[in-house]
Amino acid sequence: MAETMTTILPAPRARVQAMMEYHPPLGCRDSLRLDFNENTLACSPKVREALAAVSTGHLTRYPERGPVEAIVAAHLGLQAEQVALTNGVDEAIHVLFETFLEAGDELLLPVPTYTMYEVYASATDARVVAVQAADDLQFPFDRLLAAITPKTKIVAIANPNSPSGSVATRSQLLEIARRAPYAVVLVDEAYFHFFGETVMDLVGVVPNLIVARTFSKAYGLAGLRLGLLAAPVELMRWMRRVLSPYSVNSLALACLPPALEDAEYLDWYVSEVLAARAEFESALDAANVRRWPSQANFVLVEIGAQHAEFSRRMREAGVLVRDRSSDPGCDGRVRITIGTREQMRKAVVALNETLAALAKPAASCFESSACATKSPVGVTRK
Ligand code: PMP
Repeated sequence: MAETMTTILPAPRARVQAMMEYHPPLGCRDSLRLDFNENTLACSPKVREALAAVSTGHLTRYPERGPVEAIVAAHLGLQAEQVALTNGVDEAIHVLFETFLEAGDELLLPVPTYTMYEVYASATDARVVAVQAADDLQFPFDRLLAAITPKTKIVAIANPNSPSGSVATRSQLLEIARRAPYAVVLVDEAYFHFFGETVMDLVGVVPNLIVARTFSKAYGLAGLRLGLLAAPVELMRWMRRVLSPYSVNSLALACLPPALEDAEYLDWYVSEVLAARAEFESALDAANVRRWPSQANFVLVEIGAQHAEFSRRMREAGVLVRDRSSDPGCDGRVRITIGTREQMRKAVVALNETLAALAKPAASCFESSACATKSPVGVTRK
């Protein structure tokens, strides 16, 4: 007879046990993807060519990030030592927090904002100090300044911010950096291309400023996982200790230079999105849907109590949107990514139909032909 064994499982660090979980809703996304603020179309054709030219011999080698970092730095007007490529901005945030946050430190965050700041902070011993934006979801500048303490170690600001689309001005960011001299001020410019304003030129000038950028949005390379950190050399040397030397793979490194070179494609995509955003905002106004002004490739809208049903029905209509109701101060709000004008015209049709269906009493909708193939939530068809 087999001996009975008592299984004792190794316990993770207490911090990990207390860590916030984050599971992005990634399944079944073969629809119009207006849920993750990605490029909804394609990357530059030059990137595809570079990808096709990668040899198997190339894949046998460990990736060498240095030469590509030098190209990216030159593109940004920085020194090579001031730029580190990362496996998406997510890795950049992780590395930054692991480098600087320890017990007793505070991470200052205007909220609502990008979820991963809190997720990675929860793996450290630092405390998150969240500063809630008012109902207009504008950058809470004065309250953020007032929340700076000697314990503030990082201030993380997405600019433009997600899910609100709101922005902080250059002078506000400079003032925060000045008033928190012992803290790192991270300006996450993931959506920079849709906004056009940057503080990248201040990297190395303002001693505590770090800027992050991603290739997941305008460049259309979310699947390659490419981001970057730009920081003064004195801060970057510590982060390089934490950063894995191989976290950016060879395919991503091969694709980055052609992506940067094809400014024409990037400009075309960005202007297409901006034109689509203006059209879509007019459609929201015509439908009487409250929206927040956005400087990014998405718009936050007020749906109200039916937010979950709205998102579900939009999915059924072939359009994925992102319910942000659980974000602080965002109850009833849904974020919709902006794609091309053609895509957004389809989204407007789905939006208007969904709003009309939701406005009807449940019984009449149930009988209508528009809803015949759908099963309304909470109603079991017999
Ligand atoms: N920062 C912000 C503000 C974001 O919204 C996102 C993605 N949703 C990221 C960073 C992550 O970017 P990446 O894909 O480069 O990890």
